[in-house]
Amino acid sequence: MSLYRDTGVVLRVHKLGEADRIITLLTRRHGKVRAVAKGVRRTTSRFGARLEPFGHVDVQFYTGRTLDVVTQVETVDAFALPIVGDYQAYTAASAITETADRLTAEEGEPALKLYLLVVGALRALADGQRDASLVLDAFLLRAMAFAGWEPAITECARCGERGPHSAFNVQAGGSLCGRCRVPGSVHPAPEVLVLLAALLHGDWSTAEATTQPVRRDASGLVAAHLQWHLERQLRSLPFVERRAREAPITGALGSDAVSGDTEVTGAAQGTGGTRHVAGDAAGA
Ligand SMILES: [Zn+2]
Repeated sequence: MSLYRDTGVVLRVHKLGEADRIITLLTRRHGKVRAVAKGVRRTTSRFGARLEPFGHVDVQFYTGRTLDVVTQVETVDAFALPIVGDYQAYTAASAITETADRLTAEEGEPALKLYLLVVGALRALADGQRDASLVLDAFLLRAMAFAGWEPAITECARCGERGPHSAFNVQAGGSLCGRCRVPGSVHPAPEVLVLLAALLHGDWSTAEATTQPVRRDASGLVAAHLQWHLERQLRSLPFVERRAREAPITGALGSDAVSGDTEVTGAAQGTGGTRHVAGDAAGA
């Protein structure tokens, strides 16, 4: 029996049989890991509550023939309790874990930077000191940067000319100068681009000085940018599993057909589970 240990964040859980669950974790050293947690849906389970979404845990696994099996769990940070108790934090955290899940297609492929980003974002949501929507958008922008999809904010996406520029086009990669502008571009207020740059670079004093309308427009651009790249990524993966290809991506983050185990994940499928990203994306 081969054992290994790692620290990870629970991205999602779903039922397996009568009493078991499959847990999807983003781990520090092994990237995304899907593992069976046996008996965790019984009330007598030793570690069931620690394996809820958003939990930051230290886990021992043994390597199974198909899926690995969880044998021990210790809580590192109890993020789930404060996050689940705050609706805005909860919807942001749901979007964060779902995006992290989608950005790590290959199981076992190390994704240390993304793991650290997810932990940092969940910690901020659990602390409750920052606006949950800003935390989410900062996460999404940086996660896209790791994936190579960073939107051009201060320079032209096509020719690189320094801006700021008034046109923004998701398909073209972000801001566009007067020469490169294409039909269908939107024209966000200058403050929106300032906010996007601040979120990408962690300039929280600038980000927190913005107004709600600016934040809403910035969220719309972030959501539209993410959605476009996720859809393109799905199309570019011929081996992607059937369910993923057929699932409509409604907002930046479509609801997932296979979760819905506990109250926690069940609520994520409601209309509020993915925030207001679809409407904003459409209106951007
Ligand atoms: Zn240009």
